[in-house]
Amino acid sequence: MSTRPPRAAAPSRPATPVAAAVPRRQSWGAIADRVLAGGAITREEALALLASPDEELLDVLSAAWRVRQRHFGNTVQLFFLMNAKSGLCPEDCSYCSQSKVSDAEIPRYNLLSAPKLLEGARLAVERQSKTFCIVISARGPTEREMDAVCRIVPEIKARYDLNICACLGLLTPEQATRLAEAGVDKVNHNLNTSERFYPEVCTTHGYADRVATLAACRAAGLKLCSGGIMGMGETQADLVDMAMELRLLAVESIPLNFLNAIDGTPLQGSSRLTPRDCLRGLAMMRLVNPGAEIRIAGGREIHLGSLQPMGLYAANSMFVGDYLTTKGQLPESDYRMIEELGFVITRGAEAAEPLCGE
Ligand code: SF4
Repeated sequence: MSTRPPRAAAPSRPATPVAAAVPRRQSWGAIADRVLAGGAITREEALALLASPDEELLDVLSAAWRVRQRHFGNTVQLFFLMNAKSGLCPEDCSYCSQSKVSDAEIPRYNLLSAPKLLEGARLAVERQSKTFCIVISARGPTEREMDAVCRIVPEIKARYDLNICACLGLLTPEQATRLAEAGVDKVNHNLNTSERFYPEVCTTHGYADRVATLAACRAAGLKLCSGGIMGMGETQADLVDMAMELRLLAVESIPLNFLNAIDGTPLQGSSRLTPRDCLRGLAMMRLVNPGAEIRIAGGREIHLGSLQPMGLYAANSMFVGDYLTTKGQLPESDYRMIEELGFVITRGAEAAEPLCGE
C-alpha cells in the first residue's frame, strides 16, 4: 500500500461563466444540424453543453449520436494497449502512476523483448482490435528504444493486419520521421488538458512541448492520436479549450480518459465525476470534433459505471482489455455490450476513415 497521504481534493473552481445565448432544450438538435451541414459548435455552446442539466442529457446525447452515426454508422473500433515499458519515468505528471512522484504499486520494467511485443500484437488481433498501441513510460525514447520499436513494427505488420500507434513521449522531428519510415501509422501524444491548466498537472515539461511533438509527427506524415483526461480538477472551460485545440490540430483519433485517481499518485482520491458528466464530455468532444475517432478511454468502467453503453452513442471506439497499469473489464463484457447496442466491431485500414467527409 502507498504511504502517501491522500491529497486534498482540488479546490472547487468558480463555475464557468456561460454566455447569455445558452442553447435550450430544443437547440441541441439544431447544433447537430449545423455540425452535420459542415458548420461548427461555438465555444459558448460547448460550455453550455457541459453545464446542461441532467434532464437534457438524452437530447445532448441524441445530437452527438446523429453526428457519430453520420461518420461511423453503428461501428465500434477496438484498440489494444501494450505497456511496453512500465514505471521508471522521470516526469512528474500528477495523474500518472508511472511518474517519478508516484508511489503506486505497479510493475516496473524496461522495454519488453521482441517476442513479447509480437505476442502482444497477436493478442490484439485475437481481441478484434484494429490498432495495436505500443506505449512506453518516458519523457522521450532513448536511441535503443527507438531502434527496438523501428525493428519490431515492420515485423508486426508483416505478420498481422494491424495499425500501429506508438506512444513514446516527446519526439524530435527526426524521431517522428524514423517512426513513419518504419511503418508506424499513428503517434499518440495526449494534450491531456488545456494550456492554462497544464502547469497544475505537470512541471517537468510543458504544453508547448506536447504541441511541438504533435506538429513534428504531422510533418512526418503520421496520423495523430491525442486526447485528454477529465476529472483532474480542471474547469469546464479547460475541457472545451482542449477539445478546440484538438480540432485546430485536426487530430484524427481522440481518447477521452476519466481520471482513475490511483492510490500513490498525487491526485489520489481527487476525482469527482458522475457518469452523466462523462457522457456530456464525450458528447461535447463529438460535436467539436465531428469526424474524429473518439475513444472512451481509461476510467470508463469506474466513472461511467452502468451507463457505459450510452457512451458509445457519442464515441465510436474503446480500448479492449487492460489499461497501462490498471485492469479493464473482461473483453467478453465489451463484446456483449457492443452486440446488445446493435453495434458491430470493425477493424482494418478502411475503418480509420470517416464514412463520409465533413
Ligand atoms: S511522461 Fe507519460 S509515463 Fe511519464 S509521468 Fe508523464 S504520463 Fe506518465
